[in-house]
Amino acid sequence: MLSREECADLDRDDPLAYMRDRFILPEGVIYLDGNSLGPLPKAAVATLSHTVEQEWGQGLIRSWDDAGWFDLPQRLGDRLGRLIGAAPGQVVACDGTSINLYKTLRAALSLRPDRRTILAEAGSFPTDLYIIEGAAEGHRTRLLGRDGDTLDDLLDDDVAVVVLSHVDYRSGALLDMRELTHKAHRAGALVIWDLCHSAGVVPVELDACEVDFAVGCSYKYLNGGPGAPAFLYAAHRHHEASRHPLTGWWGHAAPFAFERDFRPQDGIRRFLTGTQPILGLKGVEAALQLYDDVDLAALRAKSRALGDSFIALVEQHPDCAALQLASPRDSAVRGSQVAFTFPHGYAVIRAMIEQGVIGDFREPGLMRFGLAPLYLRHTDLFDAVEIMADCLRRQVWTDPKYQTRAAVT
Ligand SMILES: *Cc1c(COP(=O)(O)O)cnc(C)c1O
Repeated sequence: MLSREECADLDRDDPLAYMRDRFILPEGVIYLDGNSLGPLPKAAVATLSHTVEQEWGQGLIRSWDDAGWFDLPQRLGDRLGRLIGAAPGQVVACDGTSINLYKTLRAALSLRPDRRTILAEAGSFPTDLYIIEGAAEGHRTRLLGRDGDTLDDLLDDDVAVVVLSHVDYRSGALLDMRELTHKAHRAGALVIWDLCHSAGVVPVELDACEVDFAVGCSYKYLNGGPGAPAFLYAAHRHHEASRHPLTGWWGHAAPFAFERDFRPQDGIRRFLTGTQPILGLKGVEAALQLYDDVDLAALRAKSRALGDSFIALVEQHPDCAALQLASPRDSAVRGSQVAFTFPHGYAVIRAMIEQGVIGDFREPGLMRFGLAPLYLRHTDLFDAVEIMADCLRRQVWTDPKYQTRAAVT
């Protein structure tokens, strides 16, 4: 049995405990949804108000140069690179994940013109599949989990591109990036990794794994703010030959020459399209600064320990006996979230939120809990499970007020 005292001991020994104070966390809330929208870093308040009042208010258009706005997508990209194992010049912060997936997918397809198949996951976050369908342009889609159970079943010499989520958004299952990338390469395919649920919480080695392209969000574990610009990685070796269709002026070799014809910039900037949302990027900048003081190995170790504690706390509680673990039990193959299946999961999550424990619900019947290691404590998890157990004991699903669905769950 894991007691509250033992949880407090784990918190005392936590080498990242000092990070919690860098966030604004509302009183009376235990936040287990940082995998959907990260909390507000204190530094972002000052950075954003400086950007609004000084750079925009006083600097006006001069700030594109003087405040470094124009180069921000690349500067942040290089900064993100440290978290995802990318050497400088291969990452830009821009647009949204859906749009970046479109650009990288079309770029990857342009490098394999003789192949007609895109391989993706049947269980992937739906926008990834929607974008793949929209970008397919005559390509067929083969889905892991529908048309076959392993990459080996589905790879052949018609597969141009494989799109995979590093961490599954529902179960939290973590894939082996190195092994799967090499498997796809041996079949002559390119790989795009979606890092939405791993960037900022699971160490990623894009260069070392010889990944071709990657995309990801900055508003989840990276805490960049609601709707913050996403990021896009393209390996150096693909810059020159790949083509994507969103060729706007920000990707032009000389945007302020206002030339008639499009000429792509040599480097990663060719993956930009148009003017970027500077306020949003500034939120990302403030959030990324937090990582300057974080040892990524310690971050991963704490994330795994939080997951182990949470599973133990739920499974040891007699009132939680009806919940089924829907995430890998082995923390080595689990991201930073844990999900449980329960038929009345939606009502239980609503009732927990009312008592200050914020998790979320994903169909089918999954209660999902993000365990962000920058600000959560083991004692928070102990207290959250007590509240969950109380909701289960009271059978909150029998109360109609917890049944109505909100627009965003
Ligand atoms: C959160 C998430 C997205 C979100 O895409 P947006 O364009 O930011 O709305 C896409 N893919 C995955 C795997 C996600 O987890």
